[in-house]
Amino acid sequence: MIGAGLRAAKQAANVVDLSQPFDVVVIGGGNAALCAAITAARAGRRVIVIEGAPEFYRGGNTRHTRNLRCSHDGTAPTMTGPYAQEEFLDDLYRVTGGQTDKALAKLTIERSNELIGWMDQQGVRFQPPLGGTLSLGKTNAFFLGGGRGMLNMLYRKAEALGVTAIFDAPVTGLTIDNGYFMSAAVKYKGRTLSIRGRALVAAAGGFEANIEWLKQHWGEAADNFLIRGTPYNRGDVLRMLLDSGVMPVGDPTQCHAVAIDARAPKFDGGIATRLDSIIFGVVVNREGNRFYDEGEDTWPKRYAIWGRLVAQQPGQIAYSIVDSKSIRQFMPSIFPAVEANSIRELAAKFDLDPAALEKTISEFNAAVQPGTFDHTQLDDCSTEGLAVPKTHWARAIDKPPFYAYPLRPGITFTYLGVRVNEEGRMLLADGKPAGNMFAAGEIMAGNVLGKGYLAGIGMTIGAVFGRLAGQGAAAHAQN
Ligand SMILES: Cc1cc2nc3c(=O)[nH]c(=O)nc-3n(C[C@H](O)[C@H](O)[C@H](O)COP(=O)(O)OP(=O)(O)OC[C@H]3O[C@@H](n4cnc5c(N)ncnc54)[C@H](O)[C@@H]3O)c2cc1C
Repeated sequence: MIGAGLRAAKQAANVVDLSQPFDVVVIGGGNAALCAAITAARAGRRVIVIEGAPEFYRGGNTRHTRNLRCSHDGTAPTMTGPYAQEEFLDDLYRVTGGQTDKALAKLTIERSNELIGWMDQQGVRFQPPLGGTLSLGKTNAFFLGGGRGMLNMLYRKAEALGVTAIFDAPVTGLTIDNGYFMSAAVKYKGRTLSIRGRALVAAAGGFEANIEWLKQHWGEAADNFLIRGTPYNRGDVLRMLLDSGVMPVGDPTQCHAVAIDARAPKFDGGIATRLDSIIFGVVVNREGNRFYDEGEDTWPKRYAIWGRLVAQQPGQIAYSIVDSKSIRQFMPSIFPAVEANSIRELAAKFDLDPAALEKTISEFNAAVQPGTFDHTQLDDCSTEGLAVPKTHWARAIDKPPFYAYPLRPGITFTYLGVRVNEEGRMLLADGKPAGNMFAAGEIMAGNVLGKGYLAGIGMTIGAVFGRLAGQGAAAHAQN
């Protein structure tokens, strides 16, 4: 139900004069953009949010999220146990292999501490801690109503604060003079408008939905990638900024990519296509060979390497195989598992060489050592003597029926972005801070994520830097 206040705000937005300069122009319409817009509006600035997607699809990848990761002292009712900043930082260093800007990483983690309270003030609600196979109750707060519910509350708050939001309004050009933002060219209602502003917050996501751009770095393999989120994050704004002399950050081949069900749609399949079966069995490529330790670490710390691993396999396809002991122990994908009474029969269903698959499974089974299986922790079930070991949760795959899911790389978001400083201000190619340009979210996540991923940190980076960028842009616009 749209309340009277919101309706009035919407009507007011319709009559906003877009030809008058705004204090703060925010490009994008997801978490990072809204956190920036709300912060700038709370500081009394005149703010516009320019969202490329139609209103129903507003909020890009944020629509698909469920949680954010934050440090806390254990008193938050929506999370279990304390999660100290040092522990969060250790986790981040481990998954990135130290490839992170340490000052920005520390800042992200320090400021993550404020996020639940701040979100709560904006009307976002969280659900009680989640148990089960995800083991995230201590580290991540889950949005009530998911990312879409969270976004709706942020939009509602932004509108109540007088922020103008326009949809179906892709930015197609930026006028930047010597590192200074002047205006954005926006396709809107059949015309191209020039929207001027005193400060810019770029929060328009990565380039994950731009297959041609992905192909420049991955070659033809990128044709087999599935994009888990919005088709609107094509990196156009990122490209414009880099072409205008903003310093890049990150490796263009690095991204958050998970193994998803190969039957998922090309775009926007969301979380329902993700497969959490990997630690429970083995994963083979189309030659029927295992290629990586499926039991390396707990799933939240490792799930994001599997998209990349599958991307490196021939044909960018792999198969997650489990037996009937495990089939009910993980969250299934939306697609049913393919079932067979023998490994040979399972191979035939995917056109795999039956003899090769049987050999892989029997060698694996023979290498499994005795242990006590416990998928909630790093247990003592491992293999011995295999070229590709399985270091935890190794159990023989011997109890029919057998099940398999086909896997493809599911690209979540890319890490190539714009370099920012501790204010969320962009840095120019010569290292100098930009006059009035700030960035938040995926478009700068590569500052913190050189590689690897920690579940929930995408939203943390977006919210922390969204607030910083909003604050910086508001302060600049006032001067
Ligand atoms: C399936 C899935 C599940 C996820 N789950 C989680 C999770 O639970 N926790 C977590 O932390 N992270 C999760 N992530 C990652 C998370 O979605 C991102 O880190 C986060 O949403 C990024 O926020 P953002 O505001 O930077 O980008 P987005 O939310 O993607 O917003 C970018 C916006 O920019 C707009 N845009 C793009 N180009 C233009 C243009 N030229 N002009 C105008 N607008 C433009 C897009 O339409 C889009 O609305 C998930 C991602 C996916 C795909």
